[in-house]
Amino acid sequence: MTKSNHQTTANPPSSEAHKSLSMYEAVLARFNQAAEIYNLPTDIADILRVPQKQVKVNLPVMMDNGKVQVFEGYRIIHSTYLGPSKGGIRYGLDVNDDEVKALAAWMTYKCAVAGLPLGGAKGGITCDPRSMSVGELERLTRQYTLAMVDVFGPNLDIPAPDMNTGKREMAWIVDEYSKLKRESTPGVVTGKPVTLGGSKGRESATGRGVMIHTLEAMKKIGIDRKKSTAAVQGFGNVGSFAAKMLHSKNITVVAISDYTGAYYNEKGIDLDRALQHQKAHKNTLEGFTGGDKISNEELLTLEVDVLVPAALQNQISAEIAHKIKAKLIVEGANGPTEVEADEILHDKGIIVVPDILANSGGVTVSYFEWVQNKQGFYWQEDEVNNRHDTYMQQAFEQVWYNSKQYKTNLRLGAYITAFKKLEKALRYRGNY
Ligand code: GLU
Repeated sequence: MTKSNHQTTANPPSSEAHKSLSMYEAVLARFNQAAEIYNLPTDIADILRVPQKQVKVNLPVMMDNGKVQVFEGYRIIHSTYLGPSKGGIRYGLDVNDDEVKALAAWMTYKCAVAGLPLGGAKGGITCDPRSMSVGELERLTRQYTLAMVDVFGPNLDIPAPDMNTGKREMAWIVDEYSKLKRESTPGVVTGKPVTLGGSKGRESATGRGVMIHTLEAMKKIGIDRKKSTAAVQGFGNVGSFAAKMLHSKNITVVAISDYTGAYYNEKGIDLDRALQHQKAHKNTLEGFTGGDKISNEELLTLEVDVLVPAALQNQISAEIAHKIKAKLIVEGANGPTEVEADEILHDKGIIVVPDILANSGGVTVSYFEWVQNKQGFYWQEDEVNNRHDTYMQQAFEQVWYNSKQYKTNLRLGAYITAFKKLEKALRYRGNY
């Protein structure tokens, strides 16, 4: 990290400088822009600019071929000022400490924007989950839990699913953690199977949140949803549920994609058929015949009303931003838009609902799951969904209001919304 990142009121780096930004530097670039507009006091900025705790572990795992392989694992706690830290765990070949650090910081802002009494954290393991057997993944997940037994805890740090993890991995963590602690501890993670204390509505929550934010933004900018079209990049947990939810509100989803390709159908993609295809084809859309095959770039630059990037980070570069024709972008993924694209999209009048608002439905229902675990009393799905929608609508309103108040875009408006809450919490906590 360069020294210039430590100046709160430094001018945002020029777009040239953005080109080589790491993910955490990209977080800081936005942080610095918002801190300058809001005039965030230097002491608060200095505290928030760095994570509170970073844990790195090496995990030996017995592979199916009888050889031991050592994997790198991370858990980075960005903050615990609003409550215990919260955030997912991702598995992937390119997982590294810079990425996990960026994602941990976003969790702090995401929880604050959504109005949750939680701080931010993220975890990850550098591995290739697609090439590993279920047994190898289970042993890896249990090793990681053992290594993090003093980091995790229902009142300390509460993981959840993220890329390439889901309820199966969460179930292994609950089991391992409960055995180690010699007591049933469902509240140590969220995103569990419902039979192990998970919440109804959690799996679809991030997609549901994307839908609520799409509708709220459409109302503000005057798009008639019944005549509108959407393209969704990514067909994992976030993208597939987002597409289904948008469709349920009469928005025509004309394009979907996954890492094997993108598919376009101007009449609307048959989403149930796409889901069935995915199930029957090793969880991919490869060979899907419900639409014409197009490139990833073609999907991102389609003439649609709404674009939902719900795949990986850094998908919308400056070059792509120049070609985007959507009126509204709702960021289902974390960090899909590069820093230098922000200004281009803003100048083109494209409204971007930023990740820390747009995909906060997942952690909001995670919070409800944690509350239900504490109560030992479980809610009906309608109750979960209704509460979720209220939280999301309130968060959207606050971010919209702050972006107008501070004459900035929704991304920086979201950071400012979070700053207001974090500044208060830090002041109440007092001096050290
Ligand atoms: N991994 C999700 C996210 O990035 C969910 C985190 C959680 O539920 O704690 O928001």
